[in-house]
Amino acid sequence: MSAVLNQPTAPELVDERVSIYQPEQSGLVFPALPSFTNVAQQRQHLKERLVAACRAFALQGFDYGFAGHLTVRDPENPGLYWTNPMAVHFSQVKVSNLILADHGGRVVEGRHAINRAGFVLHAAVHEQHPDIVAMCHAHTVHGVAFASLGKKLEPITQDACAFFEDHVVIGDEAGQVSVEVQAGHKIANAFRGVKAAIHQNHGLITASRHSIEAAAFWFIALERCCQQQLMIDATGIVPRLVPPERARYSREHVGSEYIGWLHFQAIWAQLLETQPDMLD
Ligand SMILES: [Zn+2]
Repeated sequence: MSAVLNQPTAPELVDERVSIYQPEQSGLVFPALPSFTNVAQQRQHLKERLVAACRAFALQGFDYGFAGHLTVRDPENPGLYWTNPMAVHFSQVKVSNLILADHGGRVVEGRHAINRAGFVLHAAVHEQHPDIVAMCHAHTVHGVAFASLGKKLEPITQDACAFFEDHVVIGDEAGQVSVEVQAGHKIANAFRGVKAAIHQNHGLITASRHSIEAAAFWFIALERCCQQQLMIDATGIVPRLVPPERARYSREHVGSEYIGWLHFQAIWAQLLETQPDMLD
């Protein structure tokens, strides 16, 4: 199989369920999935969206020193990944300072060093799951706090339903930096058929079989859901949960990879207008 096919592109990524958002609206402005005529064009597209995801993380306040890494699989060489440079603030990541690394965390292109310990976590997941094309991880306030509880998100809202039966809690061997290396394969094992993981005492991880945009948006959504769950838990009042069958229905309709990609298009457009230097 051509390596290019490892990075799925339109039209197979279109989710038919998105039609609920655009019934009989043909001819009106609506984000379109990209198509490419060559690998170089596809790679440039991926790098630009990876940078936009980093900039979005900066806007969300997801930075914590040099912690946090986002990866997207190269469309031509599926064993190589584009990622953000170490010790560069998310707000200062740009196309020209991205780095390309292999499974072992060795930089094969780019001037900057890599957060090797953290990257190993991504590499293990990418290696075990050839279909996973992008991942996000950061040490966020609410995600890390919620992760200390070692429990799953409950279907407390329609938004939280996006993660219903679509995330896992990785319960042990977390909480110390060196474990990030050792836990790589354990985390990889956990990413079977789900888009997110809560790593106890550590933080949130999202993965996408669709795009870096989907991985980034679902990370933003997961952090927000963790914040809301903590707020609700703090009231001491037991919330009314969405019943399982309704939560499942909501997840299928508003929690798909395509919907994550679609959500990110608003962020992309805003960043393109306000932070054009990201493309430098
Ligand atoms: Zn970490």
